[in-house]
Amino acid sequence: MKVEIIPCLKDNYSYVVIDERNNKTCVVDPSESKPIINFLEKNNLKLNYILNTHHHYDHVGGNSELKKKYKAKVVGFKEDYKRIPEIDIKLKDGETWKEDNFEAKVIHIPGHTLGHICFYFYKDNNLFTGDTLFSLGCGRIFEGTYEQMFSSLEKIKKLPPKTKIYCGHEYTLQNSKFCIQYDKENQNLIKKIQEINEKLKNNKPTIPSTIEDELKNNIFLRSDNENIKTNLNIVTSSSLATFSKLRDLKDNF
Ligand code: ZN
Ligand code: FE
Repeated sequence: MKVEIIPCLKDNYSYVVIDERNNKTCVVDPSESKPIINFLEKNNLKLNYILNTHHHYDHVGGNSELKKKYKAKVVGFKEDYKRIPEIDIKLKDGETWKEDNFEAKVIHIPGHTLGHICFYFYKDNNLFTGDTLFSLGCGRIFEGTYEQMFSSLEKIKKLPPKTKIYCGHEYTLQNSKFCIQYDKENQNLIKKIQEINEKLKNNKPTIPSTIEDELKNNIFLRSDNENIKTNLNIVTSSSLATFSKLRDLKDNF
């Protein structure tokens, strides 16, 4: 399976997953239809499935037009079916979606929204995290609690380190500035920031990242780190309290 990164809107990424054996495709989080159609036509492909991580317009904006044009099926979270435009296939937490050669496990990761899910293509080690886990950041908590977001990220942390992270936005550089402020002793992060700058300078996406990379560098996955707690002046806090403090600081960063 091949994953193509399609920049959409201002800083969104949609992803086209292609099974080269039979030319079947899915798109994850089509923000808008135009760039997806352009890509498919250029590559002589049709669209079979539309996968949505959550209901925000910058993740489902292309649903209707793409469904109409290609008769593609919309796949999303069962409990959020009222907010996913034109949903056809409703999946539960922990369920594996199997169609053609596609195989993805659905993991419910509430916090950014209550119905947020990620799609884990475990055979290819590809994880589509929407607006929950970004490279070097995490999503704003709009509908859930700090605790929900924290435990959603804990679920993601447990996946194999080599898992590739495909997230909903190119926020990595801005996120890195926040990370380094409270994790300045982190040598891996300093190296990662150089790599990020290099990629962006060459007009390349900083995506995909990996779980391994995020565990080392993403401050929101490192709230048990002693240096970070010291830098925040909250040495005795729990990981959840540290995470919550970081999320608040980031909201005003
Ligand atoms: Zn969102
Ligand atoms: Fe978004």
